[in-house]
This record gives sequence, C-alpha cells and structure tokens, in this order.
Amino acid sequence: MNHEFQFVTAIHGNETMPHRALRQIGEKHVIGNPLALLLNRRFINLDLNASFGVRGVLYEQLRAPQVLKKLNSHGLVIDFHTFSCDSPPFAIVVDESMIPLASSLGVEHVVHMRHNIKKGHALINFRDGVSVEVGAHKDQRSFDLAQQIVMKLKNNGIKPQSVRVYEVFGKIEEPGNYQNFVRAQDGIIPVLYGEKAYIKQGFYGLIAREIILKGGDTHERAQ
Ligand SMILES: [Zn+2]
Repeated sequence: MNHEFQFVTAIHGNETMPHRALRQIGEKHVIGNPLALLLNRRFINLDLNASFGVRGVLYEQLRAPQVLKKLNSHGLVIDFHTFSCDSPPFAIVVDESMIPLASSLGVEHVVHMRHNIKKGHALINFRDGVSVEVGAHKDQRSFDLAQQIVMKLKNNGIKPQSVRVYEVFGKIEEPGNYQNFVRAQDGIIPVLYGEKAYIKQGFYGLIAREIILKGGDTHERAQ
C-alpha cells in the first residue's frame, strides 16, 4: 500500500496545465521537456514521448535518459498530459499490470496502448506507471483534475474503482463523424480523434475496442 508516486509533467512542452497545477500545490514533479515548456512548444526536435530508448544527439534524444535518471525504477510514474481535441479525460497503460493504478485516478476511461502507436519508446515503456490525459490544453478542468489526481493518490494510494478499459489497435485514417469514447456507426471507438499533433502526422486519431477484464483474463466485449 506504501507506493512511491513520481509525478511527471510537460513531457510535451505545450501541455502546461499539469505543471502549473502541481507547482501551485507545491508538489514535487519531474519536468519532462523544460526547454519546450519554456518555449511553449510540443517539442524542440522530436516527440520526447517517442524518444525513450532511442540513441541520438537531438535535444529530446539527449533529454530522455536524463528524465529516466530522475525517476526511481521502483516507484510508480504518473505522467500528465493534455490534448487539443474534445474528449473526456483518460488514463493510458502499456501493460495490463498498471490497470489497478490507472483505475485509482478517478477517470472513467483507461486505454491500453500497444507497441504499434509509440513503437515502445514512450516514458511508460521504461518505468512502471501510467500516462493520464487530464483534458484540453487550456481548460481549467485540466488544472483541477491534475491536482485532484495527486491528492487522491497521496490520500488513498492504489484503490481501484470501476473503469471502462479499451485496447487501441489502429489509427483513424479518414475524418468522420466521431465522438471520442462513443462507439461510432462503423463499430470503432475513437480515442484522441481530432488531436492536432496526430493530424500533423497524417492521421486523425486512434481506433480502440472495449475489453472486459475478468480475473486477469481479457475478453472482448460482445458487440
Ligand atoms: Zn502529451
């Protein structure tokens, strides 16, 4: 029950709300990309959250090992993000063993991201923990939720609540009439549909399906 939580903000430098929220309550946290944060840019050369375990001399490739050095490999990382689309907040895991932690944050949706998206080079591929998308970049609710998550974890620790769990298995290649976390007519559940950082990379969002976890087994939810 006595877990060490390690908070991380601004892995993407334009996602400033969680950093400001934690600073306001005096909560210790690791700033992922300080130079990008200073310049209010997502990154300097490359997406830091796709640069862990990648060798190179670009800013984020040099920064990634420094971030890992600041994070104890036995603690649990809570990596805060915000987004540019319209979506409810949600948590991201890359390993099912982190679903109890993701279920303790007070967000309704938990997305299991497999290797196909960040190709295994996200922060949470290198440390136990979760990423949490607390809301839109400039939304006051993102600030408030970041503080609530910190308080909840510090007061209650890992105390899983009922959540909906999804598995991402592809990308949305064409625009459509999608609402994030609402099953569309074509049967897919969109995640981060309309995210500008994705549109810049040539796709519109992620495709997920809902899964049901039973005693450690994963079953697809019947359509
Ligand atoms: Zn982000």
